Amino acid sequence: DSTTSQRPAELDASKLVVTTLAKRKPLPPMESLVFGETKTDHMLIINYTPATGWSAPVIKPYGPLSLDPMSSCLQYSQNVFEGMKVYLGTNGEARLFRPNDNMARLARSAARLALPAFNPDELLALIKELIKLELRWIPKAPGCSLYIRPTIIGTRAALGAVPSDSACIFVIVTPAGPYFQGSKKGISLLAIGENIRLRPGGSGGHKLGLNYASGFLPQTLASKQGYDQVLWLLGKSEKVTEAGAMNLFFAVQRRDGDVDLITPPLDGTILPGITRACMLAFAEAHSTGKIVLPGVPASLKLHVHERPVTMGEIDVFSTQIGRILEVFGVGTAVIVVPITRIGWRGKDIVLPVHEGNGLGQIGHGMWQMMVDVQTGKTQFEDWS
Ligand code: PMP
Repeated sequence: DSTTSQRPAELDASKLVVTTLAKRKPLPPMESLVFGETKTDHMLIINYTPATGWSAPVIKPYGPLSLDPMSSCLQYSQNVFEGMKVYLGTNGEARLFRPNDNMARLARSAARLALPAFNPDELLALIKELIKLELRWIPKAPGCSLYIRPTIIGTRAALGAVPSDSACIFVIVTPAGPYFQGSKKGISLLAIGENIRLRPGGSGGHKLGLNYASGFLPQTLASKQGYDQVLWLLGKSEKVTEAGAMNLFFAVQRRDGDVDLITPPLDGTILPGITRACMLAFAEAHSTGKIVLPGVPASLKLHVHERPVTMGEIDVFSTQIGRILEVFGVGTAVIVVPITRIGWRGKDIVLPVHEGNGLGQIGHGMWQMMVDVQTGKTQFEDWS
């Protein structure tokens, strides 16, 4: 009837139109992958206009977008994205890891920039279709995966500084190698309190392109001083927030023999990382006897604390021999990576680095558990 025909169309995966590349590209040598540089055969695109709603989704050969120079994403940074991976399981099957959480976070990020709403389940169904077409791009070597980058941009073609009434969702994928390559053990951080990335009430709890743009200058300064990434501090008390594209965990020895596992709270200044949520769930499951983290004694209790941590506190811990056991960063890209030192107030706080890949008992147990669940070797909830 006339009322329904006027309503803008919802995102509908069943309307997908697929045009495949006639001659598939040769696969690059997967041993020497540089993250985010390889372009695969196909991409997914869906456009929104206020008059028509979401267009029929299209999967087509990978290629440039055509945008009006006035597009609001170019002028006002309406650009939100996700980072997720598809892994090959133990039987060679493709497995997504907690993809509904990425879809939900993408929907929240889009809402934060007043971009048009979409149905996350339909988008996930479409992403699965794209992955089916791009299966041969998932590298087979252990620790490799296919990284998925869903993106939404504002496409309003006018300069008025107002919310974008039109948008484009596109999804691209790129093969990713293992984070640990060569002999490098962990990463170093430079703690920076000026040029802050995020502030209370700001947009740090969402995955917006603009959150990253303002971090690039401090990142180059940190690199020049020999540090891998920036550790973002907040306020006079120098609270640690997150580092690079990672959330942070501190494992601290308690006097009763147990371990405190401390991570900054989700107060709107840091991204609610999905890997972070996994760490918290694993720690809880280990401490209640539901699972045993690989290589971690079943008797070792992990007490989880989501609370502010200051640089002063880390400095004090680091001077008490054996108190700070492990510091690690977590995120989709690295899974779990040890932090080797933190530059702060002109000195280096040197942190424990362990045998092998540098991870300690807890970090390694968390990493192994993640890999086992991602590859389907171990079942945990319905995450994989
Ligand atoms: N913080 C920031 C700023 C990030 O970009 C990421 C990567 N998405 C993370 C933390 C970790 O989040 P996740 O575990 O969901 O990858």
